[in-house]
Amino acid sequence: MKILVLNSGSSSIKYRLFRMESMAVLRVGVVDRIGEPGASPVRDHREGFLRVMSVLSESGAIRGAADLYGIGHRVVHGGDRFREPARVDAGVLEAIRETIPFAPLHNPGNLQGIEVALAMCPGVPQVAVFDTAFHQTMPPHAFHYALPYDLCAAHRVRRYGFHGTSHAHVARRAAGLLGKPPGMLNLITLHLGNGASAAAIRGGESVDTSMGMTPLEGLIMGTRCGDLDPAVPFFLAGATGKPPGELLALLNEESGLKGICGANDMREVHRKAAGGDPSASLAIDMYGYRVKKYIGAYTAVLGRVDALVFTGGIGENDAEVRRRACEGLSPLGIALDDARNGSPSKDPREIQREGTPVKILVIPTDEELEIALQTLACLGNHPGEEGQR
Ligand code: ADP
Repeated sequence: MKILVLNSGSSSIKYRLFRMESMAVLRVGVVDRIGEPGASPVRDHREGFLRVMSVLSESGAIRGAADLYGIGHRVVHGGDRFREPARVDAGVLEAIRETIPFAPLHNPGNLQGIEVALAMCPGVPQVAVFDTAFHQTMPPHAFHYALPYDLCAAHRVRRYGFHGTSHAHVARRAAGLLGKPPGMLNLITLHLGNGASAAAIRGGESVDTSMGMTPLEGLIMGTRCGDLDPAVPFFLAGATGKPPGELLALLNEESGLKGICGANDMREVHRKAAGGDPSASLAIDMYGYRVKKYIGAYTAVLGRVDALVFTGGIGENDAEVRRRACEGLSPLGIALDDARNGSPSKDPREIQREGTPVKILVIPTDEELEIALQTLACLGNHPGEEGQR
């Protein structure tokens, strides 16, 4: 039983083919520079998808489209309509289109990928898996902004949250690691990659998360500012004369670690700090401090915390950031074991100090596998005739 996972951006299609019985990755790759001139140009998403299918066929990974049990598509924004993955039909396509204003950089590419795959593999069931879906369980007091109610309702302005596939994945794996059903656990999951977000998860359901209407709110990220006094962009508009679009790009692409010290990659930030660059040291201080504030806030939200889970490129690999995020939190039952925290490993593991009440876990995320699993579950729940393959 083979499932193809596609992550289609505006100029690339990332793909991964899974054999679901063993969860083995049969093939992984990317077709990029779509629409850009080059030695072997890929003119559009249709040509890009054709390339994916021919690589899969020529390598013998599949015999043809009929060999696919399903295709799972990553979709960044599902608005407030999707609490679960959805089997793609005309209504689902329309709903994704309606959400483009909230994710103008992501949803158009996601949508193009789905449309092309549908047109070229009409017999293969296709599922949209949304980054926002997992957070649709947030209660109103967590997802509303304190803005005029009717205005927000009219324009669907609210917090949605992102990275849901990753938070869901590591939460389930944490439950496995701790040997408890997800419904019995309260978790704080920290996805720290290029983008970064925290989630408070009670009994398997997200009850709060740090990203908002767009992925700009919350933690400090590679190039995004995270939490900010909403007056700042208006002040900067007056002070610099920059138009709104430019300011939004500044907050999304020129801020975060990059804005503070000129490097958006955390490894580079550490190198600069070790070389004596004070702005890089400040960036690490600010990054760790912001994560710590969210741990404190979500401890208050959950009341009892069974485990903190670190994931994403920084969460999985950066012992120094984990140390700073947990520093001084022993009154909350959170304390790291320095040796466990410092020993690098790719395996899921516990790194809390012996005898402390809150487990601290490092769990590698796997968003593609999670999309494949959710695609399978979605098709299993609603088997069409094609779904019997
Ligand atoms: P994405 O969000 O694009 O999937 P990742 O989850 O791969 O990105 O995270 C990328 C971030 O992880 C970068 O800031 C990178 O520097 C950081 N990172 C990767 N490996 C390490 C490491 N060994 N130590 C510190 N940071 C790391």
